Amino acid sequence: MACVVAGGVVLPAARALLGTKAFAQAEDTMPKLEHSDPAAKALSYTHDAGTAKENPAWAEGEICSNCLHIQGGEGETWRPCAIFPGKRINADGWCSARVAKG
Ligand code: SF4
Repeated sequence: MACVVAGGVVLPAARALLGTKAFAQAEDTMPKLEHSDPAAKALSYTHDAGTAKENPAWAEGEICSNCLHIQGGEGETWRPCAIFPGKRINADGWCSARVAKG
């Protein structure tokens, strides 16, 4: 859970220091989260929410693009996520840490 707090604090702070445009460019160079990443495995992350249907924690309509933790530009495919600092996740993906946007 430490990475949740770190991501929630570090990314907004970096955005403020670098400015939104520079931060967006930095985000573009962040590596994509791999399914083999231990943190991804621990939270059953997948690039395609359609493959999460067999996971009992998944519910109809759940996808990264409508999760509270997703960051970055609306409409972009690969975006940062507060749960996986320093990596980009697929907006069509899903993981078990998903929280619906309010
Ligand atoms: S479901 Fe939410 S927490 Fe999980 S990877 Fe997607 S955006 Fe991040």
